[in-house]
Amino acid sequence: MINSPHDDISSEHPINLLGFTQSQLITFFESIGEKKFRAKQIMKWIYQYHQTDFQCMTDLSKLLRDQLTKIAHITPPPIVKSDHAKDGVMKWLMRSESGSLIETVFIPETKRGTLCISSQVGCALNCSFCSTGKQGFNSNLTTAEIIGQVWQAVHQLKSKFHIKTPVTNVVMMGMGEPLLNFEPVMNSMNIMMDDWAYGLSKRRVTLSTSGVVPAILKMPYKTEASLAISLHAPTDALRNTLVPINKKYPISELLSATKIYMDSLPDKRKVTIEYTLMHAINDRPQEAKQLVKILKNVPCKINLIPFNPFPGTTYQTSSQKSIRAFQTYLQHAGFNTTVRKTRGQDIAAACGQLAGQVDAKNKKRATPHNTSEPIQLML
Ligand code: SAH
Ligand code: SF4
Repeated sequence: MINSPHDDISSEHPINLLGFTQSQLITFFESIGEKKFRAKQIMKWIYQYHQTDFQCMTDLSKLLRDQLTKIAHITPPPIVKSDHAKDGVMKWLMRSESGSLIETVFIPETKRGTLCISSQVGCALNCSFCSTGKQGFNSNLTTAEIIGQVWQAVHQLKSKFHIKTPVTNVVMMGMGEPLLNFEPVMNSMNIMMDDWAYGLSKRRVTLSTSGVVPAILKMPYKTEASLAISLHAPTDALRNTLVPINKKYPISELLSATKIYMDSLPDKRKVTIEYTLMHAINDRPQEAKQLVKILKNVPCKINLIPFNPFPGTTYQTSSQKSIRAFQTYLQHAGFNTTVRKTRGQDIAAACGQLAGQVDAKNKKRATPHNTSEPIQLML
């Protein structure tokens, strides 16, 4: 029997096949004396037909169905709450195996549907303007819990709202730092892009990171997904105060690693630079000017995110006037610059508002000096 990708599933327990990549499924089927093509068949049942009962998988033999029923199962994280915002945004709370809550947000637009998924419960990186960061770190999600968010969202949207292709884009911009949960995140993204699962385009699956440089350098060996960098400041002095991991991996190293990853992709693509605008912190003409200087040789598009407030924060959203002036300056300097529309605010589903429910007893915090892979936590 092969090892399960889930640490928590031992050989006495049936294996959760949700979260197995195609190659892991091939190994699994070969280990029980079955042919390779069973992997594709079962992926189709799991991800395209949302079938969790092996007995209903009619193109498998009765013998194989019975065997799978004994040794395996297909279990997504259960949904414990759904919210529907006035603007159509939906938010689901799902329960992780550790008992914490995972938040997933669906943002419908005219021509696309974007799903924002979580990679961890909480986050250890403690960015000063982020509600998730303020919660501290609780746990990493398993591959089943990461791809399970997509499974649940697609299933809900298809069955309840009869939308044929509800999710066209996935962004790893929910709770957590995806590069600090590397293997499960890479496996989940690869399942999303697998034609036997959701077949999403690699341009439409985006990983957002605050800048875990060694993990960015590992990405070319694992994925071809798109990349977004949470920059938020044009100088190390300012970024150190907003994104503490910058003390370990400063801007110059982050931009070099980004270039290496973007150059490794088989097609020409631009990295997205995320920049959350906070009043009188990083939204002035001087920061716009410095930003143009540091991004001069970086093929990128810039996404400005108006700061979303949350209880207890001292930061304020920039004025419309400052946001427009900042955008105009960057556009005049030749950068494709968009302002992210705030959606789903009435159900606390906007960027940086996802807090989940981290048990205070389980809070863990990393310092910038101990955030190397695998993450070492200060308890
Ligand atoms: N940990 C990853 C991905 C999750 S956060 C990262 O940091 O990139 C997704 C995006 O939301 C990041 O760009 C993050 O900096 C931004 N963000 C966090 N808190 C925010 C807030 N309160 N308002 C606006 N954007 C915020
Ligand atoms: Fe973590 Fe990203 Fe929030 Fe920073 S912005 S605390 S890295 S989730």
